[in-house]
Amino acid sequence: MKISLIVVIFSFVLSCSSTQKKSDSQSETTERSTSIAPTDNQVKEPSKIKLLNDSGKVYAESILQEDLKEVLYTLASDAYEGRFTGEPGQKKAAQFITDYYKTLGISAANSDGNYLQEIPQAYFKGNAKFSSENVVAYIKGTEKPDEYVVISAHYDHVGVKGGKVYNGADDDASGTTAVLEIAKAFQKAVKAGNGPKRSVVFLHVTGEEIGLYGSKYYTENPIFPLENTIVDLNIDMIGRVDEKHQETPEFIYLIGADKLSTELHEISEAVNKKYTQLQLDYTYNDDKDPNRFYYRSDHYNFAKNNIPVIFYFNGVHEDYHKDTDTPDKIRYDLLQKRAQLAFYTAWEIANRDQKLEVDKE
Ligand SMILES: [Zn+2]
Repeated sequence: MKISLIVVIFSFVLSCSSTQKKSDSQSETTERSTSIAPTDNQVKEPSKIKLLNDSGKVYAESILQEDLKEVLYTLASDAYEGRFTGEPGQKKAAQFITDYYKTLGISAANSDGNYLQEIPQAYFKGNAKFSSENVVAYIKGTEKPDEYVVISAHYDHVGVKGGKVYNGADDDASGTTAVLEIAKAFQKAVKAGNGPKRSVVFLHVTGEEIGLYGSKYYTENPIFPLENTIVDLNIDMIGRVDEKHQETPEFIYLIGADKLSTELHEISEAVNKKYTQLQLDYTYNDDKDPNRFYYRSDHYNFAKNNIPVIFYFNGVHEDYHKDTDTPDKIRYDLLQKRAQLAFYTAWEIANRDQKLEVDKE
């Protein structure tokens, strides 16, 4: 998460949109819970969306906290020197991520087999001393390979300051790790002959902390056409619990889900209700929220190109952008559940008969 002037105001308004959706030919119906819209406080009629059958469940359940923990402890260890854009620690992380995909047998997004998307030093406008790289892998869709579901997280952080390593365990080793384990789950499906209908892109961006540069570069130089990119699920900080949820830690903030696609919001709600049962907190989805988180992580570079997004986020906490954001403080049980929620949402969008509908501007 990119830092900015933070006004910490917690509004306790739950929001969500609730337009009636068409149903399709798939096999199971989940009724969406009624909830309260941010502006009119009207309780709307529950809408119905037909989810896929449980074909993704076995893969979602293969995302386990033990595996997440092992990867996160590696990426957030001192050896990675806080992963500052362009520095050796970031490049070491890029290598780790690359090796992970190679080991899984997941292809590079670039057709030449290079997992790295090189970004020249000049692009960072003086904020980084060296060039840097996004790491991009993908699984080709079986039926609609030219439609792309992007799952993203930034793997850079703020480096070493005053001799202290800023490990960035939550920010954003948690998201990076989640994307890797989600990829592993998708690859399990591929191996079982159950690969996703649409292509799934695993996008690890650099340069986030210094100004969302990696995602900006990707969207300006897309490896896969943006007009065929149907969603970006962006994961930035999902391993902790903020002040507000100390007593109810099974939660996640969702931001952006209903802004361009009513259907995306409804899918997200429905899979959560059916599978993960987290409290979905829409406080920061309110356009009037002063934190403006919608504009503060990598999904925004997709949203501004009219691509629907969901930003998964646990809120800020006492260790945010401090050297105390360490792996021992991560709630791995929650990380597992939140990663599974993102997986289910991606699985659904990648496998539905109809392409995700954009119905708003
Ligand atoms: Zn950050």
